[in-house]
Amino acid sequence: MTASGTRTPDRVALDELGEWQRALRAQFPIITGHPGLAYLDSAATAQKPRAVLDAVHDYLTTSNANAGRGTYPWANRTTDLVARGRDRIKRFLDDPAPERSAVHFTSGTTEGLRTLARDWLPRFLADGDEIVVPVADHRANIEPWLEARRLLAAQGVHVGVRPMPYQRDSGDYDHTALAELAGPRTRFVAVTHVHHVYGGDMNVHRIRRAVGDDAVICLDAAQSVGHLPVSVAGLDVDFVVFSGHKAMALPGTGAVWARQVRGPEFVPGGWSGTPNTVGVASLTAALDWLDAAGTDRIERWTAALAARLTDRLRHLDGYEILGCRTSLAADSPVQQRRGIVTFRHREISSGDLGFLLYSHGFMVRSDSHCQGSAGEQTDSVRVSLHVYNTADEIDRLLTVLASVG
Ligand code: PMP
Repeated sequence: MTASGTRTPDRVALDELGEWQRALRAQFPIITGHPGLAYLDSAATAQKPRAVLDAVHDYLTTSNANAGRGTYPWANRTTDLVARGRDRIKRFLDDPAPERSAVHFTSGTTEGLRTLARDWLPRFLADGDEIVVPVADHRANIEPWLEARRLLAAQGVHVGVRPMPYQRDSGDYDHTALAELAGPRTRFVAVTHVHHVYGGDMNVHRIRRAVGDDAVICLDAAQSVGHLPVSVAGLDVDFVVFSGHKAMALPGTGAVWARQVRGPEFVPGGWSGTPNTVGVASLTAALDWLDAAGTDRIERWTAALAARLTDRLRHLDGYEILGCRTSLAADSPVQQRRGIVTFRHREISSGDLGFLLYSHGFMVRSDSHCQGSAGEQTDSVRVSLHVYNTADEIDRLLTVLASVG
């Protein structure tokens, strides 16, 4: 209760969803098997519910074969599994025109973005075109585009790179400045759905208006797929790229979804060989599980935990929270913080803080988080949450942070 006697929105969410969350948390063997530990690094990779582990076991013990090659039942089942996996991703992304779009499996977001930069972007760009690169986002969403520019330049096709403008205080994109810099030659804009350091929703629904109808928008959804509803029916973007392992599937999974409306068709080049069939089985099961759990509720739960952490952490001496400081509550109209809170201590190095936190059982990430060169210049500690995390873990973490502050 606050002083006025009203409950804050994050408190309401935690109360309302408490029973639902307890039932879900119980489905993660690695979490329930380690009661003394708190996994707070889900932005790096998420833990897997039993349904995903069972799907992997079932596939490997009943149907394991190669896809698109043999004609016997196990091979046919595997071929179907991969086809159904593509359809499952389209459904998960609320694809309004699945007969037209394409899904390509990758090992993760990095490989997905590189595939687009290598196989699609060079066919789309012409001499004198411009691309917008989000230079303070994850390096996986920067390096591939710069590499494509270098390769095109070697062929005499010169493409201009415009750094994405950011708002200083929040870490959000500066949509007004973007509208000013975007011109008729701005053909391709790379953006991120949820920032992996600042935890802010990057308001990508505003990008289309800023860059116009013809530019292709590519969305890095590594931190949103599996954490909140991602609807390509609502978001006017051309590509969505994500990592399955951050959405509770096995490592080595991910996908590129392509709307196939603007520019040439996306056809990954080269001979791709045997697909990661067991990875596809895990991803299909993970998306089933996430849909049944409800990504809207997962979003509410993790945002409420993040608000609980930021609301108290900002009153602790010695700590600085990175990203949006004016919209820390779950109901903020300014910029929604998702389940990521990154901070540093003014005197203790983030590396030391990370070790200290692990000595109390908290697994966090403390480094520079693969952020692009326009990002933070000093390491920080990142707490990233998923549906298995609890308010009790946040409170215990705050107690430890307060004791060192
Ligand atoms: N983009 C963002 C926003 C990320 O957070 C990450 C992972 N930290 C990546 C891309 C790269 O994902 P992966 O390592 O699965 O390729």
